[in-house]
Amino acid sequence: MSDVIRLLPDSVANQIAAGEVVQRPASAVKELLENSIDAGADHITLIIKDAGKTLMQVIDNGTGMSETDARMAFERHATSKIQKAEDIFAIHTKGFRGEALASIAAVAQVELKTKKEDEELGVMLRVEGSKVMEQEYCNTKRGTQLEVKNLFFNIPARRNFLKSNNVELRHIIDEFERVALAHPDIHFSFVNNGNELFDLPAAGLRQRIVNIFGSKFNEKLVPVDEETPILKLTGFICKPEFSKKTRGEQFFFANNRYIRNNYLHRAVCNAFEGLLTEGSHPSYFLFMDIDPAKIDVNIHPTKTEIKFEDERSIFTIIRTAVKHALGQYNIAPSLDFESDVDFVPQMKKGQTVPPPGVHINPNFNPFDEQLAGRSSSSATRQTSFIPQDVHTGKSQKTQDWEKLFEDIPELPDEPKRQETLEMGETTEVKKSYSQIGRKYIFTNHGTGIIMIHQQRAHERILFERIFQSLENKNIPSQQLLFPQNISFSASDYQLIISLLPSLREVGFDIDEFGQNEVIINGIPLYLDSNLVKDVLERLLEDEKDHKSDGASKTHELMATTLAKVSAIKTGSPLNTQEMHKLVDELFACEMPYVSLAGKPVVVNLNLEDIDKSFN
Ligand code: ADP
Ligand code: MG
Repeated sequence: MSDVIRLLPDSVANQIAAGEVVQRPASAVKELLENSIDAGADHITLIIKDAGKTLMQVIDNGTGMSETDARMAFERHATSKIQKAEDIFAIHTKGFRGEALASIAAVAQVELKTKKEDEELGVMLRVEGSKVMEQEYCNTKRGTQLEVKNLFFNIPARRNFLKSNNVELRHIIDEFERVALAHPDIHFSFVNNGNELFDLPAAGLRQRIVNIFGSKFNEKLVPVDEETPILKLTGFICKPEFSKKTRGEQFFFANNRYIRNNYLHRAVCNAFEGLLTEGSHPSYFLFMDIDPAKIDVNIHPTKTEIKFEDERSIFTIIRTAVKHALGQYNIAPSLDFESDVDFVPQMKKGQTVPPPGVHINPNFNPFDEQLAGRSSSSATRQTSFIPQDVHTGKSQKTQDWEKLFEDIPELPDEPKRQETLEMGETTEVKKSYSQIGRKYIFTNHGTGIIMIHQQRAHERILFERIFQSLENKNIPSQQLLFPQNISFSASDYQLIISLLPSLREVGFDIDEFGQNEVIINGIPLYLDSNLVKDVLERLLEDEKDHKSDGASKTHELMATTLAKVSAIKTGSPLNTQEMHKLVDELFACEMPYVSLAGKPVVVNLNLEDIDKSFN
């Protein structure tokens, strides 16, 4: 039998490698930007056409390359950044694998122009699908220009696999923002289809954040600055009152490299605990400086996950530092020493420790109705009708309960039978409604009691109405007296733009306003005008989770989001009429018994069940 194993030609090997390094235009952009940073540039310009599908160009004023280096740069495993294996444990550059340019040149048409400071002439090199097509001297400035045209021109299957321009551009903006945040001392510009998206002059981190995300950020930022023997943590968190319904601005950098790490993200969330309303997320820009030997850098170039030697300590340091920052700005109690025993922060010079004290609220009244409503739900979740303070006979709750008791109908003479709740059934019995824990509505029905989860009930009602009107293409909309402008981060803006058709379909009168802003003249009838921003943020978040292409937002998803944001929440007091209306509307629904998430909305206690409780 003849031998069958052969070495793959370089061009094929490069194409295979490229599959991992260059997944989409954004990954090429990231590699090019990082090469320019490694080359010591202090001004980097990114030019994009058609979301990078037609052109991605990066121009820098870095060291440039010699003629031989320019040629070498496109070879696989050709790098100037390390020489021996141990070097990767002390790496301070972004790249070191020597794979990026070889990979990009394997799947695109690439033109390089580069010149070193002390050379008279630069060199121009054209490479297509790993083949050098042209090389000549040229006139050019110090630094490097790299043009990548027609990505995946030679792999149609991969080109077809690219997402819409909106989606691909959003990925590019995400990469650009990460790189720009990690290097505020470098001037970055970004031009997309001839329009300048960003111009970020060299600045401090605060200014860089403001330049990227908008001037409103300035007042939101609280500095974090903590130094420990293991790592140094600097950067900013956003004050809790500015937290958003989208996960938007959450950035971790390790040695100026953007990373994603769920465990450390939890450390930040943990520090914010109790300060955020449900469903909102903290924003942060945190930079870790850590000995490169303590992190596993031998990770894949396109992966942002990273491993640390001592993750638990890092978790504690981050949580404590964030709490500390929140505390210093009087946002939260400074430090919780009980849960932070394994880490004691170092005091700064001149810092004083406030004496411990006991805080008493002189106005505290345990029978205060307002307080009772706010008390933890576990105490109020009991389904028993006997209030704990029944002996006082005075509280509002007790009176409600007595009223309810009075309203319970006389026992019918007919033999007991299992009473089921039927929609639309009318009873002669006078109904009474009461609200427990600002969460549940109790009402009598026939010979039983029904308990209704107010928030789930209202979500169900709104969902069915909105869904119906969407299906019937009969979308009630209201014009706003004062149009609202809402601004987004550049990448969220791209996403919102792609959602405009769906938004209009559900009753938004919404248009692009430019400068990452939309203008809203009208909103769906069911939506409270104060909740417009919440709805849009929530839609963005759903959209990111579903990773769809934007335009195809289904009626069901839209209706769910609108219903969830607009519904009456747990904790809202309701008067009798409101409860009455809610219950009637609930039972007019097609599916009154299950919530949008498949949980119970209604629990029915019939006389038998009640009798059992007294046995
Ligand atoms: P790596 O960055 O991992 O070394 P690349 O394939 O990205 O590998 O680049 C190969 C080499 O080409 C780099 O090591 C560097 O010497 C050179 N190079 C790439 N881009 C630039 C640039 N913009 N300016 C100067 N040199 C560059
Ligand atoms: Mg590189």
